[in-house]
Amino acid sequence: MKNLVLFGPPGAGKGTQSEKLIHKYGFVHISTGDLFRWHTKNETSLGKRVKEIMNSGALVPDEITIAMLKEELEKNPNAKGFLFDGFPRTVPQAEALDKFMKDNGTAIHYIVALDVPEAEVRTRIAKRRTTESRVDDEEEKLNKRIAEYFTKTIHVLPFYVKQGRLNTVHGIGAVDDIFDGICKVIDHS
Ligand code: AMP
Repeated sequence: MKNLVLFGPPGAGKGTQSEKLIHKYGFVHISTGDLFRWHTKNETSLGKRVKEIMNSGALVPDEITIAMLKEELEKNPNAKGFLFDGFPRTVPQAEALDKFMKDNGTAIHYIVALDVPEAEVRTRIAKRRTTESRVDDEEEKLNKRIAEYFTKTIHVLPFYVKQGRLNTVHGIGAVDDIFDGICKVIDHS
C-alpha cells in the first residue's frame, strides 16, 4: 500500500489533481474538508459541532479532525493506498498520521506540496465563486482560510523538509503539466 499527502492552499488545484491521481493510481481519496462538509450537510452530531468553525474558515481542532480521519481509514482496510487531501494541516496532525500509518504497518510514501503563491490563489478562488457556490469561498471566510494555510499549515512543510520527505511541485500552468510533475514524484520515489 502506497500513500500520498497532497498539500496546497485553498484554490491550488488539489481537487482537480486528486481526481486525476485517483483515476491513474487507484488511491482512496480522503478529503477532510469533504468529510466535514458531509457531516454538516447531514447534520450529524459531529457536523453540528464543527459547522460554526467551518463557516468561519478556521481550522477544526486537531482532536476532532484526527478522530474523524482514523474512523475513515478504519472503514477502508483493503485500500490500495490513500490520497490525503487537506490533511495534515498542523504538526500534531502530521505526527498522528505518521503514527497511525506505522501502527498499521505502512507509511506515507509521497508528500507533495503544490506551490501556488497567495495572489494567484486569490484570483483563482474569485473565479471559482462565480461558478460554484461554496459557502467557505465567501470573501471573509476565504481570507480566513487562506490565512490559516499561510500561517498554520505552511508550518507542516518544514516538519517534512527536516526529514527529507517533501517534494514541491510548481502549481501554476496547465493542469496536465502539474499532474506530470506529481506523477514524476510518485513514479521515481
Ligand atoms: P477544505 O475543503 O480542505 O479547504 O476544508 C474546508 C474546511 O474544513 C476548512 O476550512 C476547515 O474548517 C475544515 N478542515 C478540513 N480539513 C481540516 C484539517 N485537516 N484540520 C482542521 N480543519 C480542517
